[in-house]
Amino acid sequence: LWRELAQKDSLTKIYNSAACREKAEEFLQNNTAAQVALIIIDIDNFKHVNDTLGHAMGDEVIHEISQRILTLFRSEDIAGRVGGDEFVVFMKHTTREIAEKKAEMLCEHLRMKVKGENQIVHISATIGISLAPLHGIDFTSLYQHGDEALYQVKKRGKNNYGFYGE
Ligand code: GH3
Ligand code: MG
Repeated sequence: LWRELAQKDSLTKIYNSAACREKAEEFLQNNTAAQVALIIIDIDNFKHVNDTLGHAMGDEVIHEISQRILTLFRSEDIAGRVGGDEFVVFMKHTTREIAEKKAEMLCEHLRMKVKGENQIVHISATIGISLAPLHGIDFTSLYQHGDEALYQVKKRGKNNYGFYGE
């Protein structure tokens, strides 16, 4: 139990950044031929939730987002919260096509209206994806490349996904 608590984010109960990295690295080292996808998710306009509806509502939304992410993936995939409104999913033994399908589903499920007493805030998700071994064979390079892909999608207008280098 102690180990479990240390690996999980206290707000969302999914893995924290260090645990994600550790688990992903372990898999990559033991499965050098496997195709994997690293999906990085950043919530769009999340500051508006806090500013308009309050920080407590923001926390609730982060919790809801975590649950929605978890329901879309297999139990062997590694899902974690790596920053305030940033999440990752490391998909073991997958393909580009499956990762793309998952990214589409994430965009659909994470686009929502958050209702306060008399305001509504619209949020969505921007997603960057990198693939191993194509874009890197260690977590650090996969993360850098996924993050670069995410940044490119944000620049093009959010609420969408993109693969590194495309
Ligand atoms: P963008 O569309 O460009 O992603 O902008 P954004 O408003 O989502 O802001 P950004 O991703 O740059 O920063 C995330 C914000 O999320 C910063 C902070 O206000 C908020 N945040 C971070 N962690 C928490 C948390 O644990 N709880 C709550 N309620 N808010 C958080
Ligand atoms: Mg954000």
